[in-house]
Amino acid sequence: MPADRPLPIPRDSTSGTAPDSLRIAETFTSIQGEGKLTGVPSWFVRVSGCNLRCVWCDTPYASWNPEGPTRTLDDLVDEAKRSGVTHAVVTGGEPMIFPNVEPLTHRLAAAGMHVTIETAGTVFRPVAANLMSISPKLANSTPTEAVGGAWSARHEERRINIPILQQLIDTFPDRQLKFVVSSTPLPGDIPEIESLLARLHNWAPSDVLLMPEGTSPPTQQQRSLVAGECIKRNWRYCTRLHIDLYGNKRGT
Ligand code: SF4
Repeated sequence: MPADRPLPIPRDSTSGTAPDSLRIAETFTSIQGEGKLTGVPSWFVRVSGCNLRCVWCDTPYASWNPEGPTRTLDDLVDEAKRSGVTHAVVTGGEPMIFPNVEPLTHRLAAAGMHVTIETAGTVFRPVAANLMSISPKLANSTPTEAVGGAWSARHEERRINIPILQQLIDTFPDRQLKFVVSSTPLPGDIPEIESLLARLHNWAPSDVLLMPEGTSPPTQQQRSLVAGECIKRNWRYCTRLHIDLYGNKRGT
């Protein structure tokens, strides 16, 4: 999301879906590009709507300007089963703000699929998740008021919720804490991550991943900088394999 031009202030799309359905920005079958399951062929369902507005959001069509048709859970589960892969990734937007994400995940699991949820960690639901991929949003995500209008303060107020983060960590034994770090203020991002982790317990260093921000491959210097910070703390470096493979394209 470019930070240098004003954007229309969208509605907060947290409600309004019909029973047994969800508004879906896109579905596709690709390779998981981020996190512990990088490289695993997966069926993705991107729920449309988010309770945050990251300035660098790489899926504005599911947050700043949510789009897509309403689809039934039957339709989605049938498509997942026909995809030919065994891993499902429920992403967004912010899937956890939608009550119908809960039955969707249980039905995907009942169909024998491994389910990953990708969330910013501000809302809890008892979803069926084999991997809970939590991406707490750092201060580098907050839009200025000139860019985000009322969303600037709303985003800043909502982006970190310690009780919810702890509940997600405690509930899902296989989880990851994936932080998007910006290349320029990286020295500021690390203390913020350490301060956040100090307020949480029951996590291991191997749960923590740093991912360079951007919709194009990071430079060698950016990769080295982020990797160096990971090595010092036994954290993991997180690639964006789908960007390397396909570029910043929808449906990948
Ligand atoms: S939480 Fe995710 S989908 Fe929502 S605005 Fe931030 S990056 Fe975009």
